[in-house]
Amino acid sequence: MNVLKQHFVLTWKAKNNIISRLSRNGSRLKRIKDAFAFARDSRVLEGTLAIAELERLHDLLTEVEGDVSWRLEGFKGERGELLLQLTVSGRVALACQRCLEAIVFDLDVDSLLEIVPANVDLSQDELEDDTRDFLPVDGELEVGELIEDEILLALPVAPRHEKCGLPEAAKAGERINPFAALAGLKGKPN
Ligand SMILES: [Zn+2]
Repeated sequence: MNVLKQHFVLTWKAKNNIISRLSRNGSRLKRIKDAFAFARDSRVLEGTLAIAELERLHDLLTEVEGDVSWRLEGFKGERGELLLQLTVSGRVALACQRCLEAIVFDLDVDSLLEIVPANVDLSQDELEDDTRDFLPVDGELEVGELIEDEILLALPVAPRHEKCGLPEAAKAGERINPFAALAGLKGKPN
């Protein structure tokens, strides 16, 4: 009985996973074929990404609606190193760890990443250099996943209202209304 139940859950999860991957592939360009060429040629890519697609964020949020705007710029650094600058902005509704109500959080990601081949071992000096952030890349870069990673790094570890349930908290709740306006866009075709 238990085995059957577990099997059903796994199958359902696997199916869901396939559906979300299909819709990812079918949506706007979020993959770069050659990240090194992208940086070498000083290319720029920008767009919006639905928060609904950023699945690793969902457990932290009270609302899975709205979009984030992002911009990825490639360029060469002074030492000839290949760099990617990623900016992401948008608004997410984090779940307060005390009362589980929404805390509106304005994303302001601005990350400078040095791309290095995934199979190259970094030296100890490089690893200890706090001024550089390395991004090992296998050539192809999943931009959506990078955006998700950088958002996760930018979020507060344990978000809490200063005073749960008091006027300050209510104000934070009111500010979430922009999401209501976006509700009509839910389920729009990709
Ligand atoms: Zn709270």
